[in-house]
Amino acid sequence: MLQNLNQVPAKADDPTVVPRLSDLYQQLYHYIRQQTGSHWLPAVVQLYIGCPIAEREYLKKWRQVAHTNHYDDVICCCHNLGTLPLKTVLGVLAHEFGHIAAANAWNDSCEANANAAAYEFFGLTVHYSNDAQQLEYLDEGDIKKIHIY
Ligand SMILES: [Zn+2]
Ligand SMILES: [Zn+2]
Repeated sequence: MLQNLNQVPAKADDPTVVPRLSDLYQQLYHYIRQQTGSHWLPAVVQLYIGCPIAEREYLKKWRQVAHTNHYDDVICCCHNLGTLPLKTVLGVLAHEFGHIAAANAWNDSCEANANAAAYEFFGLTVHYSNDAQQLEYLDEGDIKKIHIY
């Protein structure tokens, strides 16, 4: 099933974009919950698809597709995150979960700490693509851990 690793929905207005993004989020969240229990993450973390700030950032600067710290215990993302490859969606979201965990564990959620938390608490290594976008991604081994298929 790993041929789906780079699979993307056809277009941003494809009706499957939001359900796919929600589904990937839930599967990753379930895995992270199993890894961390009640440590370092609040009881509920929600995904806000289409945060207006995320939509604006997406148009201004391609790289910024998601953020935390806008609302408590919420990961905000742009709608277009759902059009990116599976490994990218999971990498971006793992990084954002890392921001929340790093803030709780170390009281400092800088970029490096977000990825350190993802590794230490979730067992996920966040990589960056070599292209101009430099978006986060997870490798196949980590995606298998999440049982996403
Ligand atoms: Zn936001
Ligand atoms: Zn970040």
